[in-house]
Amino acid sequence: MGIPAERIDRLQDLAREATAEGDIDRAREYVRLARRIGERHRISLQRRFRRFSCDDCDAYLRPGATARVRLRSGHVAIRCLACGATARYPYEG
Ligand SMILES: [Zn+2]
Repeated sequence: MGIPAERIDRLQDLAREATAEGDIDRAREYVRLARRIGERHRISLQRRFRRFSCDDCDAYLRPGATARVRLRSGHVAIRCLACGATARYPYEG
């Protein structure tokens, strides 16, 4: 495959599909692989990808399936339904 960023994009697609099929463990493998690629090549994972993977258990966070997303004043709270961790990010329109 092509440059690392493209491989990460592809892994994100695969993780999303696996999650849609209810295979959270397979999605985790894709998330972990994407993280390793990002670390090896010293590129930060795309912010979108970071937001949709759980820092605690590596689950791919798909709203309505493995994640609950809430808008608060000034931030977005994303709760991982696989492990219960909540991540908060500044809200950007
Ligand atoms: Zn989690």
